[in-house]
Amino acid sequence: TEELSYRDPELFAAITGELGRQRDEIELIASENIVSRAVMEAQGSVMTNKYAEGYPGRRYYGGCQWVDVAEDLARDRAKQLFGCGYANVQPNSGSQANQGVFTALLKPGDTILGMSLDAGGHLTHGAAPNQSGKWFNAVQYGVRQDDNRIDYDQIAELAKEHQPKMLIAGGSAIPRIIDFAKMREIADSVGAYLLVDMAHFAGLVASGHYPSPFPHAHVATTTTHKTLRGPRGGMILTDDAEIAKKVNSAIFPGIQGGPLMHVIAAKAVAFGEALRPEFKTYQAQVIKNAQALSDRLIEGGLGTVTGGTDSHLVLVDLRPKGVKGNATEASLGRAHITCNKNGVPFDPEKPTVTSGIRLGTPAGTTRGFGEEEFRQIADWIVEVVDGLASNGEENGAVEDKVKGEVAEMLSRFPIYATL
Ligand code: PLP
Repeated sequence: TEELSYRDPELFAAITGELGRQRDEIELIASENIVSRAVMEAQGSVMTNKYAEGYPGRRYYGGCQWVDVAEDLARDRAKQLFGCGYANVQPNSGSQANQGVFTALLKPGDTILGMSLDAGGHLTHGAAPNQSGKWFNAVQYGVRQDDNRIDYDQIAELAKEHQPKMLIAGGSAIPRIIDFAKMREIADSVGAYLLVDMAHFAGLVASGHYPSPFPHAHVATTTTHKTLRGPRGGMILTDDAEIAKKVNSAIFPGIQGGPLMHVIAAKAVAFGEALRPEFKTYQAQVIKNAQALSDRLIEGGLGTVTGGTDSHLVLVDLRPKGVKGNATEASLGRAHITCNKNGVPFDPEKPTVTSGIRLGTPAGTTRGFGEEEFRQIADWIVEVVDGLASNGEENGAVEDKVKGEVAEMLSRFPIYATL
C-alpha cells in the first residue's frame, strides 16, 4: 500500500497528533488560520513535482502548460482582490516577499525606516538580528508613550533626519488601522518608496474591512496564511509597471529558484475563496469577535494596548494582574487555549518573558465562533490569569477546569470532520 500511515508510521503519528491538537485547542495565535480542504488538496497535489523557473509563458522548463494555468489564476485573482495591476505570487514566505522588494528597489547600505520590533513591527523591517538590519542602515520608529498609537510626527522627523530610501508600514502586533495616506505623504517628503507590509490584515483589506494600501503604497507585501486564510507563503503587489518588472527579476532569478507550484495552486484556491461573498461575512465577524474579546478582557481587569482594536488582533497587557507573558502562555496552553507571549510597547521585560500576550480571532472565527464564544474565551483567560496571579506555577486545578470547559465548547465546533 502507498498510504502514509503504512509507509511512514512515525511521521504519520506526528500529523495525526497535530490534527488532534488543532481539533482540541482554541487557536488564538493572531497569525494563524484554518485552511479549507480545497486549499490542502491543491497543496498536496502533483504540482509539487514541477520545476517552473520563470513566469507563465516565459519558463526555463518544458511541460509548464498546467502550472501556468495555476499561476495565472493566482495572479489574476490576487489583482482582483486587492485592486492593483501586478502580482508576484512566487515568494515562499512573507520574509522572502520583503527580501524580494528590498532586492528590487534597494542596495546594501541604503537607509530604511521601519517600525521597531518592540513597538509592533516585524523582524524583516530592519531589526538588528535580521538581514534587513544587517545589510541596510535601519532606522526604527515606534508608538507614542501616552496612547500607544503610531507616532507619525516621529516618523516624519526621522525621515527628514535620515533621508531613507524606503519607508515601511505594517507590523505583527498593531491592533489599530494604519494611515497609509499619511505614510505616503511622509515618504514623498523625502523621495522614499512606501512599502506596506499587510501580512497581518490582508484578509481584512481583501474584504473591504481595512483600508487598502493602494493607491498610497508603491508596493505592498503580504503573507497568504494569516487573515487571508491560504497556504503558508508570500506575495508582492504593485500598481507600477516599472516596479513590477524589478520585483519579478528580484524574486527570480534574484533570490529564489523554482517556485513552489503546489503552494501557488493553493494560493489560487484561497484567493478564489476570498473573492466569494462569504469571505466578507467572515472578516466582518473576525473584527466583531476581536472587539468582543477585548471589551470582555478589559471588564475582567486586563489591559489591552490602545484599549481595543480595529482589526483581528488584541494585544493584552498583563501588568494589571502582575503576571508575565511567558507564564501566561504556558498556563493557557495547559488549559488548551493557544496563544503567544508578546511584548507590549515600552515593555520592561525581556522578549523571552514579556508583559503581554497577543491574541487573534481569525482561526476561531473560521471554526464558527461568534461574539458569545469569544466572551466566554475572555472569561477563561481571566480565570487562568487570576489563578496564575494567586497560585503561581501551581495553577493546575484552574487549568484542568478550564480545559474541560474548552473541550465541551469545541465539541460543538468540529474541524476537518471528514479527515
Ligand atoms: N511581515 C509581517 C508583518 C509578519 O507579521 C510576518 C510574519 O509573522 C512576516 C512578514 C513574515 O512572514 P513569514 O513568517 O511567512 O516569513
